[in-house]
Amino acid sequence: MNQFNINDIRKQFPVLDQQVYGKPLVYFDNAATTQKPLCVIERERDYYLHENCNIHRGVHYLSQMATEAYENARKTVAQFVNARQSQEIVFTRGTTESLNLLATSLGQLLVGEGDKVVVSAMEHHSNMVPWQQMLMRSKGELLVIRMDKKGVLDLNHYEELLKQRPKIVSIAHISNTLGTVNPIKEMIAMAHKYDIPVVIDGAQSMAHQVIDVQDLDCDFYVFSGHKMYAPMGIGGLYGKMEWLEKMPPYQFGGEMVDTVSFEKTTFNKVPFKFEAGTPNVGAALGLETAVKFIQSFDRQEVEAYEDELLEYATEELANIEGTRFIGQAPKRNGLISFVIDGIHPYDLGTIIDKMGVAVRTGHHCAEPVMTFFGIPGTVRASFAMYNTKEEIDIFVKAVEKAANMLK
Ligand code: PLP
Repeated sequence: MNQFNINDIRKQFPVLDQQVYGKPLVYFDNAATTQKPLCVIERERDYYLHENCNIHRGVHYLSQMATEAYENARKTVAQFVNARQSQEIVFTRGTTESLNLLATSLGQLLVGEGDKVVVSAMEHHSNMVPWQQMLMRSKGELLVIRMDKKGVLDLNHYEELLKQRPKIVSIAHISNTLGTVNPIKEMIAMAHKYDIPVVIDGAQSMAHQVIDVQDLDCDFYVFSGHKMYAPMGIGGLYGKMEWLEKMPPYQFGGEMVDTVSFEKTTFNKVPFKFEAGTPNVGAALGLETAVKFIQSFDRQEVEAYEDELLEYATEELANIEGTRFIGQAPKRNGLISFVIDGIHPYDLGTIIDKMGVAVRTGHHCAEPVMTFFGIPGTVRASFAMYNTKEEIDIFVKAVEKAANMLK
């Protein structure tokens, strides 16, 4: 196991070692995408240098090697989330595609005219719009679990919604705007009492927390590679085999078929029936390397370090006059969202960018959350294992300076 040595870790991320506008880069936009370690970059490069080939249908050496590597990547991801079998992992482009797959395919299996689906008030658009659009077609209804002003979901309201017998529940593990860690294990058990399957949007959690899908007993868990040190364009979904077997395909074409004639087509086995067309093999191998990179550290140690960063940043920002935190749940992870009275988040973000600090400003693809808090957006600082307290000091000073300029 690697020692958690921040200098060694940062050496693996050359992109961090640069100046922007003549200032050292402070990268606090990790919830949007993390940077990639050298091992991931090299793995993908290596694939294109020595192994590139289309998979699953070649008899020749390169194709067989690429197929084996891709299927090994699936095994690594399955083991990472403790799936029962590697076939329970479907590779997709990421969380958004996984959720579209589920809204289409699970929706087709379970949701009839007038049926309901439950999401929460803090969802990313990707875990809301696909369900909403599917329900518009089926003349159904989207039920939304309320939250309070701290950004905590109301579980009594959730129970009331479950009594309306929705067909599917889909909720974020960690909110990308508020940082709230939702009590998903409890929420999954509550839905299961009514025999309702639960989808967990894990986009913000895979890099930060140990995920055990068997312990959670979730029916589906979706994620994006690029938010966990892997390349863009790869991600996936875990699904319980009994669901995946029953679900219809999502896209049609090569790879996902068994036999084809002009009269009739039969489909391939799980997971291939959900992977139409040529997949992003190089990125899948990068994802496997990212998983191994994460696994090479003591996860508890990394989590504690990231919590320390979050706590420190919260304390320091609180000293700036007019700071209001958006999302004050007792259990938060990975990020801070805030506004400063009288200052537009966009202006603040633009000014601190010139001081070398990269944060995200705006609605973070969660417009209903902003509407709930009555604000146009927030400034969001999100952390990864390579960030430091020294960077937080630079960030807080930059925010303070910008706030003074803008007041
Ligand atoms: N869900 C959550 C909670 C997210 O934070 C994000 C991205 O920010 C997504 C879904 C969408 O992820 P992607 O754009 O990688 O598909």
